[in-house]
Amino acid sequence: MTQSPTASLRQAVQAIAPEFVRIRHQIHAHPELAFEERRTSDLVAEQLAAWGYAVHRGLGTTGVVGTLRKGDGGKALGIRADMDALPIQEQTGLDYASTIAGKMHACGHDGHTAILLCAAKYLAESVDFNGTLNLIFQPAEENEGGALHMLEDGLFERFPCDEVYALHNSPGMPVGQIGVIAGPAMASFDRATVTLHGRGAHGAMPHHGIDPMQCAASIVLGLQSIVSREIDALKSAVITVGSIQAGSTYNVVPESATIKIGVRTLDPRVRTLVETRIREFVTAQAQSYQLQSEVVYERKYPVLVNHAVQTEYARQAAIRLVGTDNVVERPPVMGSEDFAYMLEQRPGAYIRLGNGLGEDGGCMVHNPQYDFNDKALPVGAAFWAHLAQSYLV
Ligand SMILES: [Zn+2]
Ligand SMILES: [Zn+2]
Repeated sequence: MTQSPTASLRQAVQAIAPEFVRIRHQIHAHPELAFEERRTSDLVAEQLAAWGYAVHRGLGTTGVVGTLRKGDGGKALGIRADMDALPIQEQTGLDYASTIAGKMHACGHDGHTAILLCAAKYLAESVDFNGTLNLIFQPAEENEGGALHMLEDGLFERFPCDEVYALHNSPGMPVGQIGVIAGPAMASFDRATVTLHGRGAHGAMPHHGIDPMQCAASIVLGLQSIVSREIDALKSAVITVGSIQAGSTYNVVPESATIKIGVRTLDPRVRTLVETRIREFVTAQAQSYQLQSEVVYERKYPVLVNHAVQTEYARQAAIRLVGTDNVVERPPVMGSEDFAYMLEQRPGAYIRLGNGLGEDGGCMVHNPQYDFNDKALPVGAAFWAHLAQSYLV
């Protein structure tokens, strides 16, 4: 029987994986929220330096870039991992569970960091390549756009990358599988804060006031008609009213109401249409109820678009690593990811890594019972190592 060309790579990565499972558990026990990743970035920087990487710190506050050059080739590859945790109280009961109340690695970024460190060691100590490897450890993926902060600090000017890649673990996908898709893969995320200004009154005599509550209710219901009646049914948009705050008791017509709205789309034109229509709809509704209104609309993460050539490159690398049967087409999801900012500036792709099914890694991310699956660590590390080695030739 002939051995697959990547079998020896997989064995070598498997052999060093236990060290990185231990590192993963250390990071898991000490979760840090957005821009607080000091202990984690210290650990990353120390490890990279020990293997001969030139280490650059402080991009996007707590970001770390490790650069390793081998040979005289002019190609440069970027691989990114995220380091931040979430404000969730962990309920896993694991012996390496979070030691910090109210903070938890519930999205597996501890795993992503350990995967890239494992690949970093292998690539530094065990193989040759020809070119420049830039390993990007970013802060604050959750909500705060750490990727954008690193870009604003000159990430790609200081560390030029021809292409850039990242991965995320995927509960519900078996360990050993890798998922790819070209084109839009994750949604844009925008938020709108609507304030309706009315006039307070006694609840028994509402005609003396102008009631923002009535209008708020009408807006909450009416907004869904933008999705159901104005967007092509074959396109995607989600408008979620996540918060509505007005008044405090039974017998008072409140002065004002505030509505917080999250918007997700997979297409820049749909994104613009939804923004325009939310503004128009809210303003017109407020006028019809004789209220003053304000809409603060913030564009946050862009649509994550995987570039066709780089997605195919990643797909072929994955096929060589785990075989055709284990490389799946992953449909887009309406979650968001700030790696989208990096893909706006450089070609690349975002890959899904199976985290397991059911009891074995199937718990969804952002759940207090979630844990990254250590069995996926060597698969991810071998994937990065193989991608880097085959790209930097
Ligand atoms: Zn997350
Ligand atoms: Zn995540």
